[in-house]
Amino acid sequence: MDKKTHIAIFPSPGVSHLIPFVEFAKRLVLLHNFHVTCFILTTTDDYSAPSPAKKAILDSLPATIDIIYLPPAVNFDDLPKDSKPASKLSLIITHSLSSLQTLLNSLLISSATNSTPLTAFFADPFGVKALEVARGLNISTFIFFPTNAAVLSLLFHLPMLDKSFSCRFMRDLPDLIKLPGCAPLHGKDVLEPIQDRQSETYKSFLNTSKEVYLTEGIIINSFSGIESEAIKALQANEGMLPIFPVGPIVQIGPTNSNTNGSEYCLSWLDKQPSRSVLYVSFGSGGTLSSDQMTELAFGLEMSGQKFLWVVRKPDNESANAAYLKDSQSQFEAIDVLPQGFLERTKGRGLVVQSWAPQTLVLSHGSTGGFLCHCGWSSTLESIVEGIPLIAWPLFAEQKMNAVMLVDGLEVALRPITVENGIVGRDEIARVVKVLMDPSCEEGKKVRDRMNELKDAAAKALSHDGSSTRALSDLAFTLRSKASN
Ligand code: UDP
Repeated sequence: MDKKTHIAIFPSPGVSHLIPFVEFAKRLVLLHNFHVTCFILTTTDDYSAPSPAKKAILDSLPATIDIIYLPPAVNFDDLPKDSKPASKLSLIITHSLSSLQTLLNSLLISSATNSTPLTAFFADPFGVKALEVARGLNISTFIFFPTNAAVLSLLFHLPMLDKSFSCRFMRDLPDLIKLPGCAPLHGKDVLEPIQDRQSETYKSFLNTSKEVYLTEGIIINSFSGIESEAIKALQANEGMLPIFPVGPIVQIGPTNSNTNGSEYCLSWLDKQPSRSVLYVSFGSGGTLSSDQMTELAFGLEMSGQKFLWVVRKPDNESANAAYLKDSQSQFEAIDVLPQGFLERTKGRGLVVQSWAPQTLVLSHGSTGGFLCHCGWSSTLESIVEGIPLIAWPLFAEQKMNAVMLVDGLEVALRPITVENGIVGRDEIARVVKVLMDPSCEEGKKVRDRMNELKDAAAKALSHDGSSTRALSDLAFTLRSKASN
């Protein structure tokens, strides 16, 4: 009997990191007969009760993916309210390293005595310290980069960029940043955790950009159909590690179908005309201020278009108040929306609280547009279904993604922010109409372009497509290691 190749994966906390990482692992299992062990980080708040979304993902894993839960390291609720997601991630990972070392060592010993010795350890860019632990045990390491080539390119260019400017904040950079093969970037659109050069997260990104060279390869969730030049430029770089563009890796339906409210959303969509509904969502943890939420509600109402809106409790201090939290504090949508909004939009709009079965919504024939925060998984999920976008970036690398989607790929419209960072109701109603009204020429261009990308994504994932080949190359590399 052929020995299975065995790898371990270590997704950083948060469902949006877990989703693409386990989908990647599933592909190695299903297409290349791999065995995978998945280490799951926990915090004291989610240890006893993981969110329905996280539970649905973990419950849907095939039997050839083993899960090892690390003991809870920290309680996010004990951290200051304004802690940035990147700091929270770093904290929980740092506190889990010694348990990881113990458990990984046991796995190494036990797997060596059965038919599936552990060959390699994969972590995402937040987990570079975990990669160090694995290397300390003589395990080969790889990075699973859940975003795109543009962000990876920025990571590689950061040390050079760092030497070339003196201002403290990226937003003050006088010139556009020109990363090879990517749409030029204003400093203000560079990923948010590295905006301030004096911050700890900036220093840790700078460190990550050096640490990646200690690994044996990087897997990116992108494909040549959308980032051909950026990928080529990365691969052509002298001294570069092997890069495997295996995307688009997106969540497959069933993991999403048994979360709360799923049937309700889908049966409402069943009753709507083809391509008539705008899906509105800000990812796994994006939040709006109360004022912005009011403007969005009025904008959707004034647009006259149908919508399905995943509403979160507003937060006036942070755009990522719900990020990395498995469940948001309880609230009633009626209490956070303008008075009378739900009655006035009844039948035309559906509001769901906190979470929707996103991939099922996007693949539904009634969905025709997505007002999206430009998180990379949401972006890819939209591309796979050919759903055009309204770009509404909030934090992390979302502004960079928005630049690519609006200026580079031309598959998204971006509303103009008017005052104090607020997008007004008139502007919202205008872009929604442009995207959703079938008779609007400007919207048609964006819809047509998105359909081209949908075809390009399907091609990349086809039997002989570029991403299928990249995954086979990776599987071959890992198998060769296993047999040495
Ligand atoms: N998601 C979902 N339902 C929701 C919100 C998000 O299923 O109501 C999923 C979405 O399909 C995607 C992930 O959560 O797979 C969000 O990841 P993304 O990278 O887009 O954004 P982030 O959450 O990191 O900001």
